[in-house]
Amino acid sequence: MATQPFAGLAPKIKAQYAAALKAGTLLFTESEVVELDDERTGIPFEVRFAPALAKKPTDQGKGEQKGERRDAPPDPFAPPYQQDLYVAEDVVKEDEHDAGEGFVVLLNKFCVTPRHFLLVTKEFVKQTTPLSPVEIYTAWSILKQLSSREKHLAFFNCGADSGASQPHKHLQFIPLSNGVAPFDSFIDEHKPKNEKSCFQLPLPYANFTALLDVPSDPSEAPAYLGHRFLELLDLMIDHRRRLAEEDPSLASGPVRLSELSYNVVMTASYIHLVPRRREKFTTSTGRAISINSLGFAGMILVKEQEALDEVKEVGVLKVLENVAFRPVELGDTHAADAIVACGGLA
Ligand code: AMP
Repeated sequence: MATQPFAGLAPKIKAQYAAALKAGTLLFTESEVVELDDERTGIPFEVRFAPALAKKPTDQGKGEQKGERRDAPPDPFAPPYQQDLYVAEDVVKEDEHDAGEGFVVLLNKFCVTPRHFLLVTKEFVKQTTPLSPVEIYTAWSILKQLSSREKHLAFFNCGADSGASQPHKHLQFIPLSNGVAPFDSFIDEHKPKNEKSCFQLPLPYANFTALLDVPSDPSEAPAYLGHRFLELLDLMIDHRRRLAEEDPSLASGPVRLSELSYNVVMTASYIHLVPRRREKFTTSTGRAISINSLGFAGMILVKEQEALDEVKEVGVLKVLENVAFRPVELGDTHAADAIVACGGLA
């Protein structure tokens, strides 16, 4: 039977965050949140403007993922952990026959959102491997557990063009200050009649969503969640194949799953997956805005005033469209009944 992972996490995160901040181990960057509601979809996008980050070096650790030859930087998610950032660890089993997978919860050392934390695998697992049933179950259990006090959002950046910087497998969690994620209402408005079917939101980029109705029996939950995620991966691969057939300049095929870049956003109620075409949006003046899963959760981070002005001008959806793939109509997949035509907003 699957165990209930990380019991009593909320007070531990709160206490450890306060201690790490005080000790100066954790570096919190102030930012201003600019609300940019999209007129056509009604999605309440948030752009976080953090000018202090513009002075800091970026791209640490990326060379290794992109296959460049340079000394591998140390793995920040491997033991020994920085004591101030360490919150808890647990072994989670899928069932009674399973040896279990070890996980550690660490605070994000460089955060712009208070109490941003990471769920990392205890052993080294490549970030480019898909989430396993136990990994998704552990993330979902944390979301569920924390939601009784404060709703959180989990995200997973996978692949060289996804905005990921660390090759050691990790999911990330942030609290939602107003209790809702920007996409919650849009997903609710566009969910299919058959809520078991995965579906595509009417957006100008390819995206796939699975609503969650997780079995209350913990022995069934990991397999259920693993299967929902597999359905989304299946749709992503089908989308990629069709795109390569229609327009080989956009996507060449076939490729291996571990070579694809995608973002995953998860709440206790849904998993939302977006395949990625490139990591950065380049402004008209040549500034690069790196987009990770949080962008596809409706939250973009910019470091320069100029970048903020351009995002305001073009709109967040245009930025997201630019770094994702165009949608294609998905035909006879097992979830085809729920895939809506997506030309509307393109
Ligand atoms: P990603 O860039 O998506 O791979 O996420 C990695 C996250 O780990 C980033 O948000 C970093 O701020 C965070 N990070 C980097 N180094 C450390 C560290 N030594 N301890 C904790 N978090 C870190």
